[in-house]
Amino acid sequence: MFGIYVHIPYCLQRCSYCDFATFVYDQILPPQDYVNLLLRELAAKSHLAPQKELTSIYFGGGTPSLLEPNLIVSILDAIAKNDFIISPKTEITLEINPATLYTEKILALIAAGVNRFSVGAQTFDEDLLRLAGRKHSAQDTFDTLALLQKQNVNYSFDLLFALPEQGRARLANDLKIISDLKPPHLSAYCLTVPNGHPMSKNRALDDEQASMFNDIENALLNIGLHRYEISNFSRPQYESQHNLLYWRQKPYLSLGLSAHSYLAHLSPWGERFWNPSTVEGYADFVQQLTPENALNVHHQKNLGERLSESAALFDYAHTALRLAEGFSFENVPAFSPALTEALTDRLNALVKSRLLETKNNSWILTEQGRLISNLVFERLLLDN
Ligand code: SF4
Repeated sequence: MFGIYVHIPYCLQRCSYCDFATFVYDQILPPQDYVNLLLRELAAKSHLAPQKELTSIYFGGGTPSLLEPNLIVSILDAIAKNDFIISPKTEITLEINPATLYTEKILALIAAGVNRFSVGAQTFDEDLLRLAGRKHSAQDTFDTLALLQKQNVNYSFDLLFALPEQGRARLANDLKIISDLKPPHLSAYCLTVPNGHPMSKNRALDDEQASMFNDIENALLNIGLHRYEISNFSRPQYESQHNLLYWRQKPYLSLGLSAHSYLAHLSPWGERFWNPSTVEGYADFVQQLTPENALNVHHQKNLGERLSESAALFDYAHTALRLAEGFSFENVPAFSPALTEALTDRLNALVKSRLLETKNNSWILTEQGRLISNLVFERLLLDN
């Protein structure tokens, strides 16, 4: 399994709660210039891939649907020209903002090979959309989903909850709409903002937030979507193939501003490397890349890490624990007995604290563990 991620940093607006590397579309370099950088980066790095057959391609951001389809086509063409194999089984996802899509654009993207759309719906509550600073309306989302359903194309949408002034009763309106829409896949995110942020006031307390998540899970179960990851729900066989690469520690090559790659075959315990997160830094960085020096440039600029054995084991464990299937030593390479024992001790201590449970030789988050998953993961950290 192997996938390519392409970061598109343009957005219609800059949402105050977002910490992705994104910019309002007319405030940075023109999209064609950015795509030229992406293609140059691809040419310099394609030889690093462990295989040519692609499980997935994911256009994320940002708002990739702001780009004209011909630019998406040029990126897909370049991927194919670098000898990658895009087969009918390759999942090609593009994130879209409901205010940026119209029929011709969807048809052009589908013709280019995009076979899955991830819709940034967030909520169907007009007041909450405005409060979150979103430019799209609930009607824009309905129109976009109707377009996708008419084309019979796979899609997912994001649901943001625990927004200011939103309690269980108000969330119930969104869940009623979702139950009628019956999407194949949904990602549910609890709003995360630091104290003092304008959106940190008048929010549901922790207990109510937990109840809201249970309401979401129950509503989705009723329409046949099971929770397969902490925040992700799908019909059987509709799990995001690209995101599964991340959670199962499979390799991926990522292109674009601030994009992170993971390639297991480059050193004994794998390598992670990432790109600069400023536009100027990224442009300058890409100009220096050649196929001969690509990895070295990352390391020279402290933009890469050769994983130690303990870091690799920790990564396998905490990403697998995000999944409903949990973590099992059966699904990872052989680690040293000392590290295996150290991790087993930590996992079993978390079972005693009722934050994990065991099933079929796997450790799985309990409901309590899921609510404080970041703390659970911290407790798995192994000494180097
Ligand atoms: S549209 Fe999405 S990616 Fe862009 S700033 Fe808002 S939340 Fe972030």
